[in-house]
Amino acid sequence: EAVVNRIAAGEIIQRPANAIKELIENSLDAGSTSITITVKDGGLKVLQIQDNGHGISKEDLPLVCERFATSKIREFEDLSNIGTYGFRGEALASISHVSHVAITTKTADSACAWKAHYSDGVMVPAKAGGSSDAKPTAGNVGTQILIEDLFFNVPIRKKALKAAAEEYNRIVDVVTRYAIHNSSVSFTCKKVGSNSADFRSTQGSTRDVIRQVYGPAVAKELIDITHHNDELEFKINAVVSNANYNMKKMVFLLFINHRAVDSSNIKRAMENLYSVYLPKNAHAFCYISLEMKPQNVDVNVHPTKKEVMFLNEEKVIEALCDTIKDKLANVND
Ligand code: ADP
Ligand code: MG
Repeated sequence: EAVVNRIAAGEIIQRPANAIKELIENSLDAGSTSITITVKDGGLKVLQIQDNGHGISKEDLPLVCERFATSKIREFEDLSNIGTYGFRGEALASISHVSHVAITTKTADSACAWKAHYSDGVMVPAKAGGSSDAKPTAGNVGTQILIEDLFFNVPIRKKALKAAAEEYNRIVDVVTRYAIHNSSVSFTCKKVGSNSADFRSTQGSTRDVIRQVYGPAVAKELIDITHHNDELEFKINAVVSNANYNMKKMVFLLFINHRAVDSSNIKRAMENLYSVYLPKNAHAFCYISLEMKPQNVDVNVHPTKKEVMFLNEEKVIEALCDTIKDKLANVND
């Protein structure tokens, strides 16, 4: 059984960047306004996240790494109506099957923080022979999740990974996306032992964070788009290039119902749209956040689903393109 769980976990958490995406979404679900990620060896030695969210109560600590023991979906029928990021309470469980997990957490009404260690879905002693109970410790309100030796027991997974530097880049890419999408939350990403952050955002507007990440020259050439489509029941919030934009490589950041996703169909539509407006060899910047009825989109079903699927895709993409075209036309009148 342990081996089966491990293989299943390796399917869900394929690389450190997948794990950090799930952990960031948990921190956001907990109402955090500040999130710090610390990494060693591309996340394989250490992958740590510290947030200032509402924390986990001591009573809940034994459950958080149990499969499907999510606090976010009580009933299976709720799956289609899920409003938060959580997909099915599989993230922490999966991670605990393929790494050593330690959680330190404090809620506002607890006198102290509590620390617990996990393996294969359950709480375990910090050291052999000890008790597996959570231990009192010092700490602020919020949660720190420390993942060590990711995939230590799944050599195949480890072999499939790229060099540490490349895995780290993927982590920073995930952090960047979530920082732009959650501009009221400050994010920091750094390597263990390093004084300087490789990524840092401070709270502001979406455009403020884009400026922090891509620089003022890029931010200046962007336009904001908000649109509510009553007929197709979806909302657009976007920050995209205007027609003068001149980037060497396309930046495409897509969120559907607040989860970072890929859609080659939407990406292609943007490339086609901008090929008309931009100079030759110039590429667009597109941050697009779509919100639609949860039952119309298959985004939370499985974390490894690379391509998002949603209802009325062609019509939604057409409406998105029309909205952007309208704005571009106005900007360049
Ligand atoms: P899900 O997000 O689908 O509920 P996870 O495995 O990602 O499942 O998390 C399990 C549970 O652990 C969450 O439902 C939540 O109660 C708790 N949890 C995880 N991370 C945090 C965090 N950073 N702050 C507060 N609670 C958390
Ligand atoms: Mg989750």
